[in-house]
Amino acid sequence: MPAYKRILLKLSGEALMGDDAFGINRATIVRMVQEIREVTQTGVEVAVVIGGGNIFRGVAGGSVGMDRATADYMGMLATVMNSLALADTMRQEGIVARVMSAIGIEQVVEPYVRPKALQYLEEGKVVVFAAGTGNPFFTTDTAAALRGAEIGAEIVLKATKVDGVYTADPKKDPSATRYSRISFDDAISKNLQVLDATAFALCRDQKLPIRVFSILKPGALKRVVLGEDEGTLVHV
Ligand code: UDP
Repeated sequence: MPAYKRILLKLSGEALMGDDAFGINRATIVRMVQEIREVTQTGVEVAVVIGGGNIFRGVAGGSVGMDRATADYMGMLATVMNSLALADTMRQEGIVARVMSAIGIEQVVEPYVRPKALQYLEEGKVVVFAAGTGNPFFTTDTAAALRGAEIGAEIVLKATKVDGVYTADPKKDPSATRYSRISFDDAISKNLQVLDATAFALCRDQKLPIRVFSILKPGALKRVVLGEDEGTLVHV
């Protein structure tokens, strides 16, 4: 039995790269979609927010010297590309998905309309929220928190390359240990980076728990949805 009725899954753009340096790795996106399919088969309603860092990120890389807002709009368009790729892979794998964009590009993607998103979810379709929040100076973490709160998701699941929240950066400090659960307040007082600050504040205000887990671990998403102890739960 799934532990939730409705979840918001946040995938970073980089999760789509696999071992490649940029872009979308075919085997990786197929594997991710198959994991999402397993979850939908448990009956849980799934909404997805995907980042764009594998293609373009407003705050770094290709944007050096650019006007920040322009670079951020490019980043949002990158998330649209990833969302389209994700939804198309879902179609190939037998999942009915809908992409909804926070910025108007109606010839490509339908606009985000909350009641329609809720309807799709109730119909068992997977909804992919594209273009982040639609605003520059934000990130897709914030889009995940925002959409998660709007659709009444019971939890935000943040799939990353690291299998949870650690006492210190495990890549730099071999003695770092993983929290199995931690409260919002403790995460703040210990200065642990779970989501970016805006997203974290929104989840805390809305009492929306977050679970951070590894996208690289086969079956982890399903275990999370079944309520098993996987990654780190950030709770109220
Ligand atoms: N972005 C934005 N507003 C949003 C969401 C995203 O301006 O609400 C831009 C921003 O430039 C960001 C880029 O889109 O760097 C890609 O998103 P993000 O960095 O969150 O992707 P991820 O790191 O998850 O791949």
